[in-house]
Amino acid sequence: MSELHKFLFDGLPVRGMIVRLTDAWQEILARRASNTATGAYPAPVAELLGEMTAAATLMQANIKFNGALILQIFGDGPVKIAVAEVKPDLSLRATAKVVGELAADARLPDMVNVKNKGRCAITLDPKDKLPGQQPYQGVVPLFGDRGEKLDKLSDVLQHYMLQSEQLDTTLVLAADDKVAAGLLIQRLPVKGEANLEGTSRSDHDQSNEDEIGRNEDYNRITILASSLTRDELLTLDVDTILRRLFWEEKLLRFEPQSGLLGPHFACTCGRTRVANMIRGLGVEEAESILAERGDIEVGCDFCGKQYRFDAVDAAQIFTAPGDQMPGTALVQ
Ligand SMILES: [Zn+2]
Repeated sequence: MSELHKFLFDGLPVRGMIVRLTDAWQEILARRASNTATGAYPAPVAELLGEMTAAATLMQANIKFNGALILQIFGDGPVKIAVAEVKPDLSLRATAKVVGELAADARLPDMVNVKNKGRCAITLDPKDKLPGQQPYQGVVPLFGDRGEKLDKLSDVLQHYMLQSEQLDTTLVLAADDKVAAGLLIQRLPVKGEANLEGTSRSDHDQSNEDEIGRNEDYNRITILASSLTRDELLTLDVDTILRRLFWEEKLLRFEPQSGLLGPHFACTCGRTRVANMIRGLGVEEAESILAERGDIEVGCDFCGKQYRFDAVDAAQIFTAPGDQMPGTALVQ
């Protein structure tokens, strides 16, 4: 079963999390594989999307925010878009649009950053939006500090976390056709670090020493975390990973989250949403599709569910309640 584990390093301003998506990840892959229009994801795309889903789960679990966290990559290569969405209850879904062929050993730049136009976006979409409130979106380039194309999603996201939260973060991500997993290590703000008012010289020196001392702790833990291999992350259970990496550290573990309290697959699509989308197309476009095909069929990219609207359904979509003929509401 998919699980999320949170832990603290006792007495140090460092926290961590491990996510292992098994059933939830396999469900996403199985639904895609059974979609006859697309077929299964090519292996490199599945790996990217799995890493995105694991990372989005860690990022959602790492913030206090009542709304969806949506991690998207807009690509300029064979992968046009890849999306992973995680809600505060850790329900998650993911999808990618792939056009054309890609090599079996395609790396991140080959998939989404061929012409230097690829970008990554992180959106926080509040659950209860106030009128006129927009979701918060941060856009992250797929380039490093020296302008080099980044090869690893974890590098892209570490940049983002440093910029947006001003917190040092280390991410290790991995995915295959069974497991999508990730380890996050984050340095917490040192108490009083941002409080510079009224510090005498001696106080200031003291706080500097504290900060440097604690950074050393973070650096040591980060080096240990970074030694985790892809193979270990994908195949070992969480207890074994934590023992192997941090056997000299004192960890405080929280109750693991699994089942419906942990990361689980769920899709939020529904007939009403699809109807709204068709309304957005406009009556002319809808009627031309109906004339051509007899009905309007829309498939959900995330879960594969098909929604079918015939001419009568479509007419209802474009009929405002006030315009309805007597008895129309009975037509089902
Ligand atoms: Zn769906």
